[in-house]
Amino acid sequence: MNNHELFQRARQLMPGGVNSPVRAFKSVGGEPFFTSRADGAYLWDVEGKRYIDYIGSWGPMIAGHNHPAVREAVERAVRNGLSFGTPCPAEVTMAETITRLVPSIEMVRMVNSGTEATMSAIRLARGATGRSKIVKFEGCYHGHGDSFLVKAGSGALTFGVPTSPGVPKQNADLTLTLPYNDLDAAKALFAEQGEQIAGLIIEPVAGNMNCILPREGYLQGLRELCDAHGALLIFDEVMTGFRVALGGAQAHYGVRPDLTTFGKIIGGGMPVGAYGGRRDLMEQVAPSGPIYQAGTLSGNPVAMAAGLAVLELVQAPGFHDTLASRTRLLCDGLQAVADGEGVPFSTTRVGGMFGLFFTAEQVETFDQATATDTAMFNRFFHGMLARGVYLAPSAFEAGFMSSAHSDQDIADTLQAAREALREART
Ligand code: PLP
Repeated sequence: MNNHELFQRARQLMPGGVNSPVRAFKSVGGEPFFTSRADGAYLWDVEGKRYIDYIGSWGPMIAGHNHPAVREAVERAVRNGLSFGTPCPAEVTMAETITRLVPSIEMVRMVNSGTEATMSAIRLARGATGRSKIVKFEGCYHGHGDSFLVKAGSGALTFGVPTSPGVPKQNADLTLTLPYNDLDAAKALFAEQGEQIAGLIIEPVAGNMNCILPREGYLQGLRELCDAHGALLIFDEVMTGFRVALGGAQAHYGVRPDLTTFGKIIGGGMPVGAYGGRRDLMEQVAPSGPIYQAGTLSGNPVAMAAGLAVLELVQAPGFHDTLASRTRLLCDGLQAVADGEGVPFSTTRVGGMFGLFFTAEQVETFDQATATDTAMFNRFFHGMLARGVYLAPSAFEAGFMSSAHSDQDIADTLQAAREALREART
C-alpha cells in the first residue's frame, strides 16, 4: 500500500488520519508520508523513498534513529518482560543519572509523556504554594493539559486554535499569559497578581513557535521575580533537556529552576516523561506527601532501558560540541544559500536545536515569529521534501540535529535548499 492509500484509510479511522495533529501536514498542505523504517539520520517511507530527517521523532533521536546501543538495550530488557508493576532497578539508575546530570534535580518522578510531566509539575506548584494561578508564555507549548492550551504553540498555533474549545473558562482564567522575552511585562504582572501565582512555567528556549532564544538576562530576571513573589520557577525542558547542553538549558544559561520537566530524549523514543527538582518540593508528592500523582506504566523497564542507553551516548566527551558545530554548519550554510538567492531569511540555534525563519529580521518574539512568510516556508518545505529532506511540517516548530547527521548529509541538504529556494521564490 502506498502513502496516499494509507492516508485515505487512516482518515476514515482516526481524526485527521493521525494520532498527533502536526503529523497531518495540514498547515503545509499535501499528505504525510508513512515511515516504514528509520536508521541514523534517515527515514524511509513505505514507497522506499529516503529522507534526511531533521525532526528525529520530534526530539528523542539525538543519537540518530535505531542506534545499535539503544536497540540492544531494549532487546535485552524485553527478554525479561515488558512491565512488572513493581519497582525495577533501571528506575533507580535513571533517577541517579538525571540527578547527577542536572544539579537542580534533587529528586525525580518518572511519567509517560511530556504532557504528564508538566501537568504534574503545576499540580505540585499549586499544592506546595497553596496558590492557584500559573503563568505561561504566548507561543510556548507544554503538552495538551487543560491549563496549557491557552495561547499555546506547536500544533495549537499551527492550526490557529491556540486556546482550545473544551478547556473550561474557569480553568483558562487561572492561566495567565505573557509575551516571551519581555521582562517588563512579567514584572508588571507579578506586581499586580504576584501573591496569587503558584508558578511560572517556561520553555527556556522556546521551541514550539519555531525556535526563539531567551534574551540575555531574561531567564535570570524571571528567577528573581519568582523569588521576590514566592512563586516557583518551572523550566519545561521536555525539548531542551540533554539537547542544548548535557545539563539542559538551565546549564547553558546558568539559571536554577525549582522544578523541571523532561520528556523526549530521556525515553530514547519510548513514551517517557519526568518531573523533578527541589527535594523539599518533591517530597510533597505521593506517597511521601499528599500531592497525588501516579502511573500504571511509569518507570517501565523497557522504556528506562532505551532512555538510559541514549543518556549514556550523550555523555560521551564532546558530544554536544560536535552536535552544536553540525547545527552551526547547517544554519550558516542555509543562510549563505538564502543570501545567495536574495531570499530574506534568518536562523537561530543553540546546541542541537535550530529555527529557520523567512524574514530578514533576527527573531526574538512571538509576534515576529508569526509575522514571517509562512507561505514561502510551505513552498520551501515541499521543495525540500521532494528532494528527500524532511523538515518539520509547520513554520512554528524547531528543527533537531542528531549525532548521526554527517557533513555529507548537511552538504546534500544545502544543495536541496538551493534548488528548493529558487523554486519557492518564483
Ligand atoms: N513540553 C514541551 C516543551 C514540548 O515540546 C512538548 C511536546 O512537544 C511537550 C511538553 C509535551 O510532550 P508530549 O508530547 O510527550 O506529551
